[in-house]
Amino acid sequence: MAGNDDTRFSPATKLVISGRGPAADVVNPAVYRASTHLYPDCAALRARTAENRDGRFFYGRRGGPTQWALAEALTALEPGAAGTVLYPSGVAAIAGALLAVLRPGDVLLVTDNAYDPTRSMALGLLKRFEVEARFFDPLDPEGFADAFCDKTRAVMLESPGSLSMEVCDIPALAAIAREKGAVSLIDNTWATSLGFCAIEHGCDIAIQALTKHVGGHSDLMMGACTAGEAWYRRLRITSQELGHVVSPDDAALALRGLRSMQVRLRRSAASALVIARWLDARPEVAHVLCPMLPGSPGHDLWKRDFEEGCGLFTFVLAGRDDAARCRLIDALRLFGIGYSWGGFESLALPVDIGAVRKTMAWPPQSWREDDRYAIRLSIGLEDPDDLIADLGRAFAALDS
Ligand SMILES: *Cc1c(COP(=O)(O)O)cnc(C)c1O
Repeated sequence: MAGNDDTRFSPATKLVISGRGPAADVVNPAVYRASTHLYPDCAALRARTAENRDGRFFYGRRGGPTQWALAEALTALEPGAAGTVLYPSGVAAIAGALLAVLRPGDVLLVTDNAYDPTRSMALGLLKRFEVEARFFDPLDPEGFADAFCDKTRAVMLESPGSLSMEVCDIPALAAIAREKGAVSLIDNTWATSLGFCAIEHGCDIAIQALTKHVGGHSDLMMGACTAGEAWYRRLRITSQELGHVVSPDDAALALRGLRSMQVRLRRSAASALVIARWLDARPEVAHVLCPMLPGSPGHDLWKRDFEEGCGLFTFVLAGRDDAARCRLIDALRLFGIGYSWGGFESLALPVDIGAVRKTMAWPPQSWREDDRYAIRLSIGLEDPDDLIADLGRAFAALDS
Protein backbone atom coordinates (compact mmCIF):
# COMPACT_ATOMS: atom_id res chain seq x y z
CA MET A 1 0.00 0.00 0.00
CA ALA A 2 1.16 3.49 -0.83
CA GLY A 3 2.92 5.36 1.96
CA ASN A 4 4.33 8.79 2.62
CA ASP A 5 6.56 8.80 -0.45
CA ASP A 6 3.60 8.95 -2.77
CA THR A 7 3.66 12.69 -3.27
CA ARG A 8 2.45 12.28 -6.85
CA PHE A 9 -1.17 11.59 -5.86
CA SER A 10 -3.74 14.32 -5.32
CA PRO A 11 -5.08 14.96 -1.78
CA ALA A 12 -8.37 13.15 -2.51
CA THR A 13 -6.46 9.98 -3.38
CA LYS A 14 -4.07 10.34 -0.44
CA LEU A 15 -7.06 10.54 1.89
CA VAL A 16 -8.04 7.06 0.73
CA ILE A 17 -4.69 5.29 0.41
CA SER A 18 -2.59 6.73 3.25
CA GLY A 19 -2.29 5.20 6.68
CA ARG A 20 -3.87 1.88 5.80
CA GLY A 21 -1.62 -0.03 8.20
CA PRO A 22 0.43 -3.18 7.71
CA ALA A 23 -2.27 -5.74 6.90
CA ALA A 24 -3.05 -6.23 3.21
CA ASP A 25 -6.08 -8.45 3.81
CA VAL A 26 -8.40 -5.89 5.45
CA VAL A 27 -9.17 -2.33 4.40
CA ASN A 28 -8.69 -0.68 7.80
CA PRO A 29 -5.80 -1.10 10.23
CA ALA A 30 -6.69 -3.18 13.27
CA VAL A 31 -7.35 -1.48 16.60
CA TYR A 32 -4.42 -2.62 18.73
CA ARG A 33 -5.29 -2.01 22.37
CA ALA A 34 -1.88 -2.40 23.89
CA SER A 35 0.16 -1.02 26.73
CA THR A 36 2.69 -3.85 26.71
CA HIS A 37 4.57 -4.78 23.59
CA LEU A 38 6.51 -8.06 23.75
CA TYR A 39 10.04 -8.85 22.60
CA PRO A 40 11.55 -12.21 21.67
CA ASP A 41 14.55 -11.68 23.98
CA CYS A 42 16.49 -9.16 26.08
CA ALA A 43 18.69 -8.08 23.20
CA ALA A 44 15.63 -7.15 21.13
CA LEU A 45 14.13 -5.27 24.08
CA ARG A 46 17.31 -3.22 24.51
CA ALA A 47 17.60 -2.45 20.81
CA ARG A 48 13.98 -1.29 20.57
CA THR A 49 14.24 1.03 23.56
CA ALA A 50 16.87 3.11 21.80
CA GLU A 51 15.12 3.13 18.43
CA ASN A 52 12.46 5.78 18.90
CA ARG A 53 10.22 5.95 15.86
CA ASP A 54 6.72 5.11 14.68
CA GLY A 55 6.33 1.60 13.31
CA ARG A 56 8.57 0.12 16.01
CA PHE A 57 6.95 -1.55 19.00
CA PHE A 58 8.26 -0.33 22.33
CA TYR A 59 5.56 0.42 24.92
CA GLY A 60 2.04 1.83 24.60
CA ARG A 61 3.10 5.38 25.37
CA ARG A 62 4.86 5.54 22.01
CA GLY A 63 1.63 4.44 20.33
CA GLY A 64 0.91 1.35 18.27
CA PRO A 65 -0.10 0.47 14.71
CA THR A 66 -3.49 2.26 14.83
CA GLN A 67 -2.02 5.56 16.01
CA TRP A 68 0.94 5.24 13.64
CA ALA A 69 -1.42 4.74 10.70
CA LEU A 70 -3.28 7.96 11.57
CA ALA A 71 -0.04 9.92 12.01
CA GLU A 72 1.26 8.56 8.70
CA ALA A 73 -1.92 9.61 6.86
CA LEU A 74 -1.78 13.13 8.33
CA THR A 75 1.88 13.45 7.34
CA ALA A 76 1.12 12.31 3.78
CA LEU A 77 -1.49 15.08 3.47
CA GLU A 78 0.92 17.89 4.44
CA PRO A 79 3.46 18.60 1.68
CA GLY A 80 6.96 19.11 3.11
CA ALA A 81 6.21 17.27 6.37
CA ALA A 82 8.45 14.60 7.91
CA GLY A 83 6.10 13.42 10.66
CA THR A 84 3.07 13.95 12.86
CA VAL A 85 2.69 13.76 16.64
CA LEU A 86 -0.79 13.04 18.06
CA TYR A 87 -2.18 14.63 21.23
CA PRO A 88 -5.24 13.97 23.38
CA SER A 89 -6.90 17.26 22.28
CA GLY A 90 -6.31 20.25 20.07
CA VAL A 91 -5.35 22.35 23.07
CA ALA A 92 -2.86 19.65 24.14
CA ALA A 93 -1.31 19.90 20.64
CA ILE A 94 -0.94 23.68 21.00
CA ALA A 95 0.62 23.25 24.47
CA GLY A 96 2.86 20.42 23.23
CA ALA A 97 4.14 22.54 20.36
CA LEU A 98 4.75 25.66 22.43
CA LEU A 99 6.51 23.70 25.19
CA ALA A 100 8.68 22.01 22.55
CA VAL A 101 9.78 25.33 21.11
CA LEU A 102 10.05 27.79 24.01
CA ARG A 103 12.45 28.28 26.92
CA PRO A 104 12.34 30.60 29.95
CA GLY A 105 13.22 34.16 28.94
CA ASP A 106 11.80 33.81 25.43
CA VAL A 107 9.25 36.13 23.89
CA LEU A 108 6.34 34.56 22.02
CA LEU A 109 4.40 36.67 19.51
CA VAL A 110 0.74 35.62 19.43
CA THR A 111 -1.73 36.71 16.77
CA ASP A 112 -4.48 38.81 18.36
CA ASN A 113 -7.19 36.74 16.63
CA ALA A 114 -5.97 33.49 18.23
CA TYR A 115 -8.22 30.79 19.64
CA ASP A 116 -9.03 31.87 23.19
CA PRO A 117 -7.45 28.89 25.03
CA THR A 118 -4.22 29.68 23.13
CA ARG A 119 -4.32 33.18 24.62
CA SER A 120 -5.01 31.83 28.11
CA MET A 121 -2.12 29.38 27.78
CA ALA A 122 0.24 32.16 26.71
CA LEU A 123 -0.86 34.40 29.59
CA GLY A 124 -1.09 31.60 32.19
CA LEU A 125 0.99 28.44 31.81
CA LEU A 126 3.71 30.02 29.66
CA LYS A 127 3.98 33.06 31.89
CA ARG A 128 4.67 30.77 34.84
CA PHE A 129 7.54 29.34 32.80
CA GLU A 130 8.84 32.88 32.25
CA VAL A 131 7.86 33.17 28.64
CA GLU A 132 6.53 36.61 27.73
CA ALA A 133 3.58 36.69 25.31
CA ARG A 134 3.05 39.77 23.15
CA PHE A 135 -0.02 40.07 20.95
CA PHE A 136 0.20 41.47 17.42
CA ASP A 137 -2.26 42.56 14.74
CA PRO A 138 -1.91 40.00 11.91
CA LEU A 139 -3.39 42.49 9.42
CA ASP A 140 -0.40 44.81 9.95
CA PRO A 141 2.74 43.03 8.67
CA GLU A 142 4.91 46.12 9.22
CA GLY A 143 3.90 46.39 12.85
CA PHE A 144 4.51 42.65 13.14
CA ALA A 145 8.07 43.00 11.79
CA ASP A 146 8.69 45.79 14.32
CA ALA A 147 7.45 43.61 17.19
CA PHE A 148 10.48 41.28 17.10
CA CYS A 149 13.32 41.60 19.59
CA ASP A 150 16.37 39.44 20.17
CA LYS A 151 14.40 37.27 22.59
CA THR A 152 11.58 36.47 20.15
CA ARG A 153 11.81 32.74 19.64
CA ALA A 154 8.42 31.85 18.18
CA VAL A 155 5.30 33.18 16.50
CA MET A 156 1.83 31.71 16.92
CA LEU A 157 -0.37 32.26 13.84
CA GLU A 158 -3.96 31.42 13.00
CA SER A 159 -5.94 32.03 9.80
CA PRO A 160 -8.81 32.64 9.46
CA GLY A 161 -8.85 34.15 12.95
CA SER A 162 -10.95 32.42 15.59
CA LEU A 163 -14.49 33.89 15.74
CA SER A 164 -13.68 36.98 13.63
CA MET A 165 -12.69 34.86 10.61
CA GLU A 166 -10.37 37.30 8.83
CA VAL A 167 -7.93 35.54 6.50
CA CYS A 168 -4.34 36.73 7.06
CA ASP A 169 -1.34 36.88 4.75
CA ILE A 170 0.36 33.85 6.31
CA PRO A 171 3.12 33.53 3.66
CA ALA A 172 4.15 37.14 4.36
CA LEU A 173 4.01 36.74 8.18
CA ALA A 174 5.86 33.40 8.10
CA ALA A 175 8.56 34.88 5.84
CA ILE A 176 9.11 37.74 8.29
CA ALA A 177 9.34 35.25 11.19
CA ARG A 178 11.88 33.16 9.27
CA GLU A 179 13.97 36.19 8.39
CA LYS A 180 14.01 37.19 12.07
CA GLY A 181 15.09 33.69 13.10
CA ALA A 182 11.83 32.76 14.86
CA VAL A 183 9.86 29.52 14.59
CA SER A 184 6.37 29.89 13.14
CA LEU A 185 3.51 27.76 14.40
CA ILE A 186 0.05 27.91 12.92
CA ASP A 187 -3.30 26.71 14.22
CA ASN A 188 -4.59 25.28 10.93
CA THR A 189 -7.77 23.72 12.32
CA TRP A 190 -10.19 25.72 10.12
CA ALA A 191 -8.56 24.76 6.82
CA THR A 192 -6.80 21.44 7.61
CA SER A 193 -3.92 20.38 5.35
CA LEU A 194 -6.46 19.91 2.57
CA GLY A 195 -7.43 23.57 2.61
CA PHE A 196 -4.11 25.24 3.42
CA CYS A 197 -0.65 23.71 2.98
CA ALA A 198 0.93 25.39 5.99
CA ILE A 199 4.49 24.12 5.60
CA GLU A 200 4.58 24.93 1.87
CA HIS A 201 3.40 28.43 2.76
CA GLY A 202 6.36 28.92 5.09
CA CYS A 203 5.20 27.72 8.52
CA ASP A 204 7.37 25.36 10.58
CA ILE A 205 4.74 23.55 12.66
CA ALA A 206 1.13 22.96 11.54
CA ILE A 207 -1.27 22.34 14.43
CA GLN A 208 -4.76 20.91 14.07
CA ALA A 209 -7.59 20.07 16.42
CA LEU A 210 -8.57 16.72 14.91
CA THR A 211 -11.67 17.02 17.12
CA LYS A 212 -13.15 19.23 14.38
CA HIS A 213 -12.88 18.34 10.68
CA VAL A 214 -10.83 15.14 10.86
CA GLY A 215 -13.05 13.46 13.44
CA GLY A 216 -16.02 15.09 11.76
CA HIS A 217 -18.68 13.27 13.79
CA SER A 218 -18.58 15.02 17.19
CA ASP A 219 -17.48 11.82 18.89
CA LEU A 220 -13.79 12.27 19.70
CA MET A 221 -11.17 14.72 20.96
CA MET A 222 -7.68 14.76 19.50
CA GLY A 223 -4.97 17.06 18.19
CA ALA A 224 -1.92 16.83 15.96
CA CYS A 225 1.28 18.67 15.11
CA THR A 226 2.85 18.06 11.72
CA ALA A 227 6.34 19.35 10.92
CA GLY A 228 9.53 18.94 8.94
CA GLU A 229 12.33 16.70 10.24
CA ALA A 230 14.00 19.03 12.73
CA TRP A 231 10.87 20.14 14.59
CA TYR A 232 9.19 16.75 14.31
CA ARG A 233 11.97 15.18 16.42
CA ARG A 234 11.66 17.88 19.06
CA LEU A 235 7.85 17.68 19.16
CA ARG A 236 8.02 13.93 19.49
CA ILE A 237 10.49 13.93 22.36
CA THR A 238 8.60 16.68 24.21
CA SER A 239 5.27 14.90 23.87
CA GLN A 240 6.84 11.69 25.17
CA GLU A 241 8.28 13.59 28.12
CA LEU A 242 4.81 15.03 28.81
CA GLY A 243 3.29 11.55 28.58
CA HIS A 244 0.86 12.42 25.80
CA VAL A 245 -0.84 9.45 24.21
CA VAL A 246 -4.10 8.93 22.30
CA SER A 247 -6.22 5.82 22.49
CA PRO A 248 -6.17 3.37 19.56
CA ASP A 249 -9.99 3.41 19.47
CA ASP A 250 -10.03 7.18 19.00
CA ALA A 251 -7.26 6.93 16.40
CA ALA A 252 -9.40 4.45 14.44
CA LEU A 253 -12.37 6.86 14.62
CA ALA A 254 -10.17 9.73 13.43
CA LEU A 255 -8.90 7.63 10.52
CA ARG A 256 -12.47 6.78 9.58
CA GLY A 257 -13.35 10.48 9.68
CA LEU A 258 -10.33 11.37 7.59
CA ARG A 259 -11.44 9.20 4.66
CA SER A 260 -14.52 11.32 4.01
CA MET A 261 -13.05 14.67 5.05
CA GLN A 262 -12.79 16.26 1.62
CA VAL A 263 -16.37 15.29 0.70
CA ARG A 264 -17.67 16.69 4.01
CA LEU A 265 -15.62 19.89 3.76
CA ARG A 266 -16.86 20.58 0.23
CA ARG A 267 -20.47 19.91 1.05
CA SER A 268 -20.49 22.04 4.21
CA ALA A 269 -18.46 24.83 2.54
CA ALA A 270 -20.93 24.98 -0.35
CA SER A 271 -23.90 25.10 2.04
CA ALA A 272 -22.12 27.71 4.19
CA LEU A 273 -21.63 29.95 1.17
CA VAL A 274 -25.31 29.70 0.21
CA ILE A 275 -26.33 30.54 3.79
CA ALA A 276 -23.72 33.33 4.05
CA ARG A 277 -25.14 34.98 0.90
CA TRP A 278 -28.66 34.66 2.29
CA LEU A 279 -27.61 36.24 5.60
CA ASP A 280 -25.75 39.01 3.75
CA ALA A 281 -29.02 40.07 2.13
CA ARG A 282 -30.95 40.24 5.45
CA PRO A 283 -31.57 43.73 6.84
CA GLU A 284 -31.02 42.43 10.42
CA VAL A 285 -27.42 41.41 9.56
CA ALA A 286 -24.65 44.03 9.47
CA HIS A 287 -21.68 41.83 8.53
CA VAL A 288 -21.04 38.29 7.34
CA LEU A 289 -17.52 37.08 8.13
CA CYS A 290 -17.08 34.08 5.88
CA PRO A 291 -13.76 33.59 4.03
CA MET A 292 -15.50 32.04 1.01
CA LEU A 293 -17.85 35.03 0.59
CA PRO A 294 -16.60 37.79 -1.76
CA GLY A 295 -16.25 40.99 0.25
CA SER A 296 -15.52 39.21 3.54
CA PRO A 297 -12.27 40.22 5.30
CA GLY A 298 -9.37 38.46 3.59
CA HIS A 299 -11.50 36.78 0.90
CA ASP A 300 -8.85 37.59 -1.74
CA LEU A 301 -6.13 35.95 0.39
CA TRP A 302 -8.38 32.92 0.85
CA LYS A 303 -8.72 32.65 -2.91
CA ARG A 304 -4.97 33.06 -3.37
CA ASP A 305 -3.73 30.63 -0.68
CA PHE A 306 -6.48 28.13 0.15
CA GLU A 307 -7.67 25.01 -1.69
CA GLU A 308 -10.87 24.42 0.29
CA GLY A 309 -13.29 26.20 2.57
CA CYS A 310 -15.43 24.74 5.36
CA GLY A 311 -18.72 25.27 7.13
CA LEU A 312 -17.56 27.59 9.94
CA PHE A 313 -18.29 31.34 9.78
CA THR A 314 -19.68 34.23 11.80
CA PHE A 315 -22.30 36.90 11.23
CA VAL A 316 -22.89 40.12 13.15
CA LEU A 317 -26.31 41.56 13.88
CA ALA A 318 -27.10 45.15 12.95
CA GLY A 319 -27.38 46.75 16.38
CA ARG A 320 -29.69 44.80 18.75
CA ASP A 321 -28.47 43.45 22.08
CA ASP A 322 -27.42 40.18 23.68
CA ALA A 323 -31.01 39.28 24.64
CA ALA A 324 -32.17 39.63 21.02
CA ARG A 325 -29.23 37.55 19.84
CA CYS A 326 -30.07 34.80 22.35
CA ARG A 327 -33.75 34.87 21.30
CA LEU A 328 -32.67 34.23 17.72
CA ILE A 329 -30.36 31.35 18.67
CA ASP A 330 -32.86 29.81 21.08
CA ALA A 331 -35.51 29.82 18.33
CA LEU A 332 -33.38 27.65 16.01
CA ARG A 333 -34.52 24.03 15.74
CA LEU A 334 -31.98 22.47 13.39
CA PHE A 335 -28.91 24.16 14.91
CA GLY A 336 -27.60 22.78 18.19
CA ILE A 337 -26.27 25.23 20.77
CA GLY A 338 -22.83 24.08 21.80
CA TYR A 339 -19.07 24.34 21.55
CA SER A 340 -16.92 22.76 18.90
CA TRP A 341 -17.59 22.59 15.17
CA GLY A 342 -16.74 20.56 12.07
CA GLY A 343 -19.26 17.81 12.85
CA PHE A 344 -22.00 16.55 10.53
CA GLU A 345 -24.60 18.57 12.50
CA SER A 346 -25.07 22.33 12.41
CA LEU A 347 -24.34 24.42 15.50
CA ALA A 348 -24.91 28.04 16.53
CA LEU A 349 -23.02 29.95 19.23
CA PRO A 350 -23.14 33.52 20.58
CA VAL A 351 -19.58 34.88 20.41
CA ASP A 352 -18.13 37.99 22.02
CA ILE A 353 -15.09 38.91 20.06
CA GLY A 354 -13.97 42.21 21.55
CA ALA A 355 -13.62 41.16 25.18
CA VAL A 356 -10.10 39.71 24.92
CA ARG A 357 -8.52 41.73 22.11
CA LYS A 358 -5.28 43.59 22.85
CA THR A 359 -4.25 45.24 19.57
CA MET A 360 -7.03 44.66 17.03
CA ALA A 361 -9.99 46.99 17.55
CA TRP A 362 -13.37 45.25 17.87
CA PRO A 363 -15.73 46.16 16.34
CA PRO A 364 -13.36 47.30 13.55
CA GLN A 365 -13.16 51.09 13.27
CA SER A 366 -14.97 51.14 9.92
CA TRP A 367 -18.09 49.55 11.47
CA ARG A 368 -20.95 51.11 13.38
CA GLU A 369 -20.16 51.00 17.08
CA ASP A 370 -23.31 49.02 17.95
CA ASP A 371 -22.77 46.28 15.34
CA ARG A 372 -21.14 43.86 17.76
CA TYR A 373 -23.48 40.96 18.60
CA ALA A 374 -22.06 38.04 16.69
CA ILE A 375 -23.25 34.48 16.07
CA ARG A 376 -20.93 31.76 14.87
CA LEU A 377 -22.44 29.01 12.73
CA SER A 378 -20.94 25.62 12.00
CA ILE A 379 -22.79 24.36 8.95
CA GLY A 380 -23.17 20.60 8.82
CA LEU A 381 -24.45 18.20 6.20
CA GLU A 382 -28.18 19.03 6.37
CA ASP A 383 -29.95 20.41 3.31
CA PRO A 384 -29.07 24.14 3.22
CA ASP A 385 -32.66 25.01 2.27
CA ASP A 386 -33.86 23.51 5.55
CA LEU A 387 -31.19 25.45 7.46
CA ILE A 388 -32.20 28.69 5.74
CA ALA A 389 -35.86 28.06 6.54
CA ASP A 390 -34.86 27.47 10.17
CA LEU A 391 -32.85 30.71 10.27
CA GLY A 392 -35.73 32.58 8.61
CA ARG A 393 -38.11 31.39 11.33
CA ALA A 394 -35.61 32.32 14.03
CA PHE A 395 -35.12 35.86 12.68
CA ALA A 396 -38.79 36.43 13.37
CA ALA A 397 -37.98 35.97 17.09
CA LEU A 398 -35.20 38.59 17.01
CA ASP A 399 -37.37 41.63 17.71
CA SER A 400 -40.24 39.84 19.42
C1 LIG B 1 -11.49 23.68 19.01
C2 LIG B 1 -10.23 24.36 18.61
C3 LIG B 1 -9.02 23.99 19.17
C4 LIG B 1 -8.90 23.01 20.32
O1 LIG B 1 -9.30 21.74 20.06
P1 LIG B 1 -9.79 20.78 21.26
O2 LIG B 1 -9.68 19.45 20.66
O3 LIG B 1 -11.18 21.22 21.58
O4 LIG B 1 -8.85 20.98 22.40
C5 LIG B 1 -7.88 24.62 18.72
N1 LIG B 1 -7.93 25.56 17.79
C6 LIG B 1 -9.09 25.96 17.23
C7 LIG B 1 -9.06 27.02 16.20
C8 LIG B 1 -10.28 25.37 17.63
O5 LIG B 1 -11.43 25.82 17.13
